[in-house]
Amino acid sequence: MSKHIKEVSRLIRENERLVVLTGAGMSVESGIAPFRGENGLWQEFDAQKYAHIESYRQDPERSWELFRLQIEEIYDAEPHQGHEALVKMEEEGLTEVITQNIDGLHQKAGSSQVLELHGTLFTLFCPDCEREYNTSEFIEEVRENRCPRCECGTILRPDAVLFGEQLPQDTVNRSLKAAEGCDLMMVVGTSAVVQPAASLPVQAKRTGATVVEINLESTPLTSDVTDLFIKGKAREVLKNIAEKLYHQLFSSQISS
Ligand code: NAD
Ligand code: ZN
Repeated sequence: MSKHIKEVSRLIRENERLVVLTGAGMSVESGIAPFRGENGLWQEFDAQKYAHIESYRQDPERSWELFRLQIEEIYDAEPHQGHEALVKMEEEGLTEVITQNIDGLHQKAGSSQVLELHGTLFTLFCPDCEREYNTSEFIEEVRENRCPRCECGTILRPDAVLFGEQLPQDTVNRSLKAAEGCDLMMVVGTSAVVQPAASLPVQAKRTGATVVEINLESTPLTSDVTDLFIKGKAREVLKNIAEKLYHQLFSSQISS
């Protein structure tokens, strides 16, 4: 692993434009369950039943059984050293963090350019009159198992993309542009099976970027797209990369 860490920190130093793509695995060490895999939410909740736009329309109160758990979880979560490492890397050319996560942890850590492909749980909106609210205004209701309602009386919903819905087009376009314009893409904690996120590293590679992947297990990207795979936990690996990077920078400043 330490050989790989050294190699990635070299790549970060040598490449001008770094873009990071994160998935649910990035937040696991902040205590947020991923969707798939061990302890995944889908082992408990049937996605089609709780988080599909049609099932939401039929029975929003049932969907809120899942939303409530997710909102409580993100309100209790804090970013970890891996999120902090990505903030630090902005000094070394990290331009955008593209995330599939809806937990706001990159922003909470201080990342300045975050593209939220799947929206966020931190805002709610009314499907009838389109009024928007901060989720914080309703946190008591959520914790007390009540469904937040709009002034017009309709049950609100999170500003997160549900199954069967389109992704925010502007964010998709900006993410694609970032992927095509980068020299190095780090893909962290995503199973790379959800589109269009999974196609971003493919696009980055096609336009000449080096792709580094950090995950506990291999993904559909690993054999065909990834140049360097680091098997490990997001927090530990990113923290080690940042430490190596700053150690190298520090040593080169001393020797020059
Ligand atoms: P996923 O749940 O499909 O896959 C998680 C991936 O992370 C797996 O490949 C797993 O091996 C890896 N992983 C698990 N723990 C890890 C760790 N500590 N370090 C590194 N890797 C680890 O996640 P995905 O690919 O992001 O799937 C996309 C969907 O999941 C999106 O729709 C996203 O909105 C949603 N989601 C988001 C959150 C969140 O906001 N935190 C949580 C659950 C699901
Ligand atoms: Zn309304």
